[in-house]
Parts: sequence; C-alpha cells; structure tokens
Amino acid sequence: MKAQAMTAFGEPLKAMNLTPRKPGAGEALVRVTRAGLCHSDLHIHDGYFDFGDVRQPVVVDMPAVLGHEIEGEVAELGEGVSSPAIGARVAVYPWLGCNACETCRTGDQQLCIALPRRALGVAQWGGMAEYVHVPFADALIPIGDLAPGLGALAMCSGLTAYSALKKIGAPPPEQPVVLLGMGGVGLMAMALAKSVLPNPIIAVDIDPTKRDAALKYGAVDAIEPSPEAWKQVAAQRGAAAAAIDFVGAPTTFGFGTAAVRRGGKYIIVGLFGGKASLPLASLPLKPYSIIGSYVGRLDEARELVTLLRQGAAPAPPMHERPLDQANSAIDDLRAGKVLGRVVLTP
Ligand SMILES: [Zn+2]
Ligand SMILES: [Zn+2]
Repeated sequence: MKAQAMTAFGEPLKAMNLTPRKPGAGEALVRVTRAGLCHSDLHIHDGYFDFGDVRQPVVVDMPAVLGHEIEGEVAELGEGVSSPAIGARVAVYPWLGCNACETCRTGDQQLCIALPRRALGVAQWGGMAEYVHVPFADALIPIGDLAPGLGALAMCSGLTAYSALKKIGAPPPEQPVVLLGMGGVGLMAMALAKSVLPNPIIAVDIDPTKRDAALKYGAVDAIEPSPEAWKQVAAQRGAAAAAIDFVGAPTTFGFGTAAVRRGGKYIIVGLFGGKASLPLASLPLKPYSIIGSYVGRLDEARELVTLLRQGAAPAPPMHERPLDQANSAIDDLRAGKVLGRVVLTP
C-alpha cells in the first residue's frame, strides 16, 4: 500500500510502499478514505512533547505511519468478526490498549500502559496510508451518512472535546463554564456543549475572530484572557463551575485556575506545554480540582458519533489534500496557516 511514512524524527515523510498486516482473528483491515492531520502529529513528528524543563520523548518504531483521525471503509474482517459489513463507512477509534488489562476492561483503553503500545497512528501504523490494520474490530464505529471527514475528526479533536466536557459532571445549571482556547478542539467543544451541559458557556481567546466564531456556536460571552475581562463577566454570572483549558500554557493555567469557584474543576487538555507554579495552599483552601484529560474512551467515541449523526455539531472547516501532500500540510500546520482541519485523502 502507498503510505507517507516517518523514517526519522523531524525529517520529511517519505512516500513508501508498505505491506499492511493481514487481519487475524478479531481484527480488521480498513481502507482509509480520510486521515485528519492533528497537532499531536507534529509533536510525534518532532519526537518529543514539551514538559517544561524536560522533553518527553516519543517512542515509536521506524518507519512509522502517523494519522490517528481515521475514517474509511471496512475492507477485510478477520475470523470471528461479522460486523460492520465489508464496505461500511466507519471511523476507527485509534486509542487502543491491550484489551486485556484491568484498565482496558473498565473501558479506559486510552490509559493502558501495557507493551507493546497499540494506539494507531502513534505506536502502530495509522491513517497516512491506503489501509490501516485494526487490532480489535470493536474499534470500528459505523458512521452511516455522516459528512465526509467528520468521523475522522470525531476520533481525536471531537473525542478530546467531548470527554473533557463530560468530566465537568453536573454542576448547578446556572453556573457558567469557561472554555479556554477556541482552536479546533475548543470550537468543537463549544459546538457540542449544548448537547452535554445546560450551563452558560463563556469562551476565552486572544483572537477576536475566534471569539466571534464562539459566539456563533452559542457562547453567552466571549472575552480575551485578561483578569479585567474576567472580573466583568464574573460580576454578572458568578465564578465558573469549571474551566476547560484547550491551550495548556502557563498563562491559560493561571487564567483558568483563577476563574473556577470553590469546589470547581480546572480540566486541562491542551498540550502547548511549559511549566506553571501555584500556591499549594490554594488547593485545599479554595478548594478546587485540577484534572487532566487525554483523548477519550471508546464508549465516549461511540456516544459522540451518535450525537454527531443526530446533528449535534456542524462539521468544522475542513481542507482536503491528497496524501502525497502530507509534508506541505505538516509545514502549513506548523506555520499556523491552517484554519480548521486538514484532511488527507489517500
Ligand atoms: Zn490528535
Ligand atoms: Zn490494557
């Protein structure tokens, strides 16, 4: 199969002819129709995540095939698998674990630490190829007639947004919820919020065009991340029951933790990186919770696809590019030239 493969960190991807694994018992092979390009792909391509003082290295075998936002058609099913039918349109849940440990059995495959790692597009070959081998057929989620590309986006940016929203729980419905950072994931959360929470949503972003977009998606207020702007909003609506940080930078950490009320939740999703310090006594005295959220569960991915099929959120702007333009697409994403999502088509 044709693939755009990574042979060394930081080097351009190479067009390669790779042989996908034949699906064995319980497995499947999917013909990729769309692979979303995500910011995480850039970090994996760099070979590390920024942990402030240190770089957390990415461990993958080369050649690696990036692309964890995968949509396609069922091409082949292994022994013992009868659905979805061959040819069915599916999204592929990529955050696979071993499917056997206690963590996986309780549904948190995305948190599995068993080796070898199985996440598609990270540890195993992903969507930047004509086919993707799927180690567990239950990772295939039928998408019916969902808009092309939306199933792919649902598996990372959509799922990340949805899972973070669900971690808020059910605070009193009049208390506001703050969403920080109206990039792809933040705007997706903005669009999904009305299906998950009754609370008023306040969007925060430095960019006025993104604040406008958030208002169109249903934010009651959209402000810049300054203490003064927050003071005005909080005077009217009260402190936030929760803040979700889709940026994950020291500045948004400072804003988000200050915005939540006593007993509130600060949920961090963004991987911008860096380091923050906080007065430790504020944790018990305020008190509030700091919660990390990493992509989402398989059952959440299924719920999200159901919501999207019911029209819960419009498809964000998508730009389709042929797979062989993967390198220029990565360069454009790095340069901040992409509004919405680039979707590669093999
Ligand atoms: Zn991603
Ligand atoms: Zn496991």
